[in-house]
Amino acid sequence: MVREIALVGDPVLRRPAQPVKKVNAAIRQLLDDMVETMRAAPGVGLAAPQVGVSKRIIVIETEEGLLELINPEVVRSSGREVAMEGCLSVPNKAGEVERATQVTVTGLDRQERRIWVEAQGFQARALQHELDHLDGILFIDRALSLQDLTDEGED
Ligand code: ZN
Repeated sequence: MVREIALVGDPVLRRPAQPVKKVNAAIRQLLDDMVETMRAAPGVGLAAPQVGVSKRIIVIETEEGLLELINPEVVRSSGREVAMEGCLSVPNKAGEVERATQVTVTGLDRQERRIWVEAQGFQARALQHELDHLDGILFIDRALSLQDLTDEGED
């Protein structure tokens, strides 16, 4: 089921999300809904607070495939690079954000098994962006520059 995406100004986006205690059917349903919502938007990532659920769950979909992570944490990061980002909760804005080039993230999958992901480039950026959502941080808080994508006469 596609869920409604919370927009900037909604307090749920600013609240630190709570760890998931047990990966049960309700959590798996939430993951399904998050993937469906992300694809419908369309977007490359979504964090549970963006669908109004203050839990530490993210999904991302990049060239490397779909990744679902519960209670994700960065265990290693290296390098710095600046690139453009946007966010489904901050429509019509884009900005340059500095992120680590490579990150190693660990978390639980939908079977509650621990997994590790070594990501770089765009996938690493998407992971860091979604992890920020779990701490109530939006990319506009980190942006070095911000562009308004409305009223540009795009056609
Ligand atoms: Zn976002």
